[in-house]
Amino acid sequence: MHNNLAKQLIRAEIQALQAYHVQPSNGLVKLDIMENPYDWSAELKAAWLEKLHSASINRYPDAQGQNIKEKLLAQMTLPDSCDVMFGNGSDELIQIIIQSLAVNAGPVMSVSPTFVMFRILAEVTSKEYIDVPLNSDFSLNSVALVQAIERHRPACLFLAYPNNPTGNLFSERDLDQIIAASKGLVIIDEAYLPFAGTTQIDRLNQYSNVLIMRTLSKAGLAGLRFGMLFGDKQWLDEFNKIRLPFNINSLTQISVEFALDNMAFFENNAEKIVAERTRVYDQLCRLSGLQVYPSDANFILFKSIRIPATQLFEGLLERHILIKCVHKPDTMLEQCLRVTIGTEQENNLFLNSIEDLTRGLA
Ligand SMILES: *Cc1c(COP(=O)(O)O)cnc(C)c1O
Repeated sequence: MHNNLAKQLIRAEIQALQAYHVQPSNGLVKLDIMENPYDWSAELKAAWLEKLHSASINRYPDAQGQNIKEKLLAQMTLPDSCDVMFGNGSDELIQIIIQSLAVNAGPVMSVSPTFVMFRILAEVTSKEYIDVPLNSDFSLNSVALVQAIERHRPACLFLAYPNNPTGNLFSERDLDQIIAASKGLVIIDEAYLPFAGTTQIDRLNQYSNVLIMRTLSKAGLAGLRFGMLFGDKQWLDEFNKIRLPFNINSLTQISVEFALDNMAFFENNAEKIVAERTRVYDQLCRLSGLQVYPSDANFILFKSIRIPATQLFEGLLERHILIKCVHKPDTMLEQCLRVTIGTEQENNLFLNSIEDLTRGLA
């Protein structure tokens, strides 16, 4: 009976969704969701716990994250017209942006394949979602995108830079054309900034309809849930009205402040991951039966030519290695898998296993 009541009262588009699935990973080599493999050193942890002692856990957190804001903005130069706001992960920022849009402002747009949360959060808020396929080398199809922008007049366009799950950056020239054609918001999601070595943040000097989104998740703080949105105050002032007042909890705020004082640790880890990415890429390219795509992120996308992707995934799982099977029939991701770069040791376990499996030794 309660089931029936839920069916009556819950919006139909929510009922049609499936909950975000997180694969169980107990005891596995976890190379599935772009986590950073490096936990903090014992020394850093001790210093961090020292800071956490100062938390007044009976009080609500600072509503604006003022301490973090000051520290962060001291480390970078933003135009005067711009500010930053924080989300409980950048996922929450995507949700806030989409939720704020007027009903008839136009659809939410992105490319395909890309990060699934753009679509999911558009659907949850009953917004039309339009995706424009990338070229077969995963570059932007700027002609098709400009046409789609002119035809559909999207309220906002999300571009992940580098893109997930393809791993590549988009060209400046394509971005120029797309931004020039956009009358709505263009949100450039730089979740993989630590591994990309390049940013689009200077676009803020030129365009008041461009926002830059970042996160600490991939840098090694996925457990904190902390995302950042940079852009013109005219947007952020509105978004702040629907942001839940205490969305960044006290422990996260203290931890982020501590992290901002210790950025060298994270930068050093990112360098190690980039070096490992090159090594894993080269090794995968040497295996027959795989097509491997270059990456500017902390993961590598590859296509299985001879063995079905699902079989390769299961074969790795039997060897206690969890990657992500992103295979979707009749799409650009047909027979594709995505592996997150781990420690040298984890990567070797993955490489040895996939070598055996692709050689048919499994
Ligand atoms: C992982 C990822 C995010 C998620 O960031 P959180 O801050 O952990 O919510 C955002 N965008 C892209 C493209 C991602 O791949």
